[in-house]
Amino acid sequence: MPLYRDEAVVLRTHKLGEADRIITLLTRQHGRVRAVAKGVRRTTSRWGSRLEPFTHVDLQLAEGRSLDVITQAETLDPFNARLGFDYDRYTAGTAMLETAERLVTEEKEPAVQQFLLLVGGLRAMAAGEHPAGQVLDSYLLRSLSVAGYAPSFDHCVQCGVEGPHRFFNPSAGGVLCASDRLPGSATPATETVTVLGALLVGDWPVVHAADPRHLREASNLVSAYLAWHLERGLRSMAYVERR
Ligand SMILES: [Zn+2]
Repeated sequence: MPLYRDEAVVLRTHKLGEADRIITLLTRQHGRVRAVAKGVRRTTSRWGSRLEPFTHVDLQLAEGRSLDVITQAETLDPFNARLGFDYDRYTAGTAMLETAERLVTEEKEPAVQQFLLLVGGLRAMAAGEHPAGQVLDSYLLRSLSVAGYAPSFDHCVQCGVEGPHRFFNPSAGGVLCASDRLPGSATPATETVTVLGALLVGDWPVVHAADPRHLREASNLVSAYLAWHLERGLRSMAYVERR
């Protein structure tokens, strides 16, 4: 079997047979890959915790007929160990892993930007410099953008006129001016729209200075935007506490 190396973040695992697991990975060069880790559920497993969700690993894989097989794994960053003790960070991180899996839809289609965004997002989540919900919202907006759903928070998505605009509609892809507004649009506070723009570009001083009320409103709109673009909502989103 031909071998290849890649680095990856473990997105998800599930049981296979008596002692094995299928590991869903987002790799740097090969996009989303599902691979078998043999013997990983044995107590004497040589893999240890290297193939648990969140772990950033350097891998060697053997190409298989249906699924590839992991033959070596070295931990680059044990994000699971760094997130595991903080409920908010762990649940927000889980929503990030699920989003990455959902937005990278094709197996083995390179998705290097999504990979880099996820590693950067998990690093920020583990570092704890920003509240978990804000790191999550920023990640969600950016990963949706990379997937081709970049929202507009300044120019009207219909006519392009520069804002600030009062109307936000997930199905339209962002803010709308008064003449182009659609029925059922949200009417967030101007400050909330500013927060959304700052989350999208990672302008942390603006995010940190924002009123909790506007941050909460922004989170709800990010969730609505994500839900619109994914066929089914995220399971893990139900556990993320929005305050
Ligand atoms: Zn307009």
